[in-house]
Amino acid sequence: MLNVFRRGTVTQIEPIAERMRRIRISGPQLRELGWVPGTHIRLRVGDPRQPRSWLRGFLRTYSIWDYSPHGRLDVCVLDHPAAGPGALWSRRVRIGDTAAFLGPEGRLLLRGDAPYHLFAGDETAAVAFGAMLRALPASAAVHGVILASGPGDRLPLAQNDRLTWIYRPDELLAAVRSLDLPGQPGVAYLAGEARTCQAVRAHLVGERGWSRRDVVVKPFWAPGRRGMD
Ligand SMILES: Cc1cc2nc3c(=O)[nH]c(=O)nc-3n(C[C@H](O)[C@H](O)[C@H](O)COP(=O)(O)OP(=O)(O)OC[C@H]3O[C@@H](n4cnc5c(N)ncnc54)[C@H](O)[C@@H]3O)c2cc1C
Repeated sequence: MLNVFRRGTVTQIEPIAERMRRIRISGPQLRELGWVPGTHIRLRVGDPRQPRSWLRGFLRTYSIWDYSPHGRLDVCVLDHPAAGPGALWSRRVRIGDTAAFLGPEGRLLLRGDAPYHLFAGDETAAVAFGAMLRALPASAAVHGVILASGPGDRLPLAQNDRLTWIYRPDELLAAVRSLDLPGQPGVAYLAGEARTCQAVRAHLVGERGWSRRDVVVKPFWAPGRRGMD
């Protein structure tokens, strides 16, 4: 198992939003990974000072914010209040540290033939959405709602002017419900907190008449659950 990990060096750590760090991992093992926007890596976040955590091989999943086939990728990690191994790793990691990960992999992928694209999720979902939005042509029709804890947690997304950022918890569903969408279904990408993703899918399918095939859902986290992937 261990030898399937790719290894790189942490070469940049910067705040990309108030509660989120953009962390760059670089190195020859990261060249030509065949990255597709929306995919993620599974990062080893075990604390090297705690041998038991290494033995258990703590992994946490992070979307790739940006990638260069010359051998670097960026992840953006939210420093949330219940900080588990992932958020703690983002606080502890330093330039020059080795980072080990599996992937990239994942099924949160753009459907290029969609009449329009609907993005809904929270600030963790915005990392994958950012990569996906950058990959869309400027002419693509985009709608979306992103929930963050405040304006300081907005990410610099392409086509941000076509997205609505909201800051009140529990209002993502209402905000999607109030979107003025075209009459026909497009394709929806739903990510972030698990129950909210399910509620938005239920709205699209049950109230707007979308087919389940039109909705790509990827729950990223759930209260009380640890390390979803
Ligand atoms: C496909 C995929 C892509 C993901 N991409 C990203 C990404 O780009 N950036 C990112 O930051 N995370 C992302 N996540 C979530 C990430 O994998 C971790 O779940 C998250 O960082 C929490 O890990 P942790 O070890 O800090 O906490 P854990 O030990 O996993 O969880 C501890 C507790 O913290 C709480 N919690 C977890 N996440 C949040 C949150 N966002 N807000 C509030 N409370 C929370 C929950 O109550 C949880 O029980 C992604 C997850 C998946 C499945």
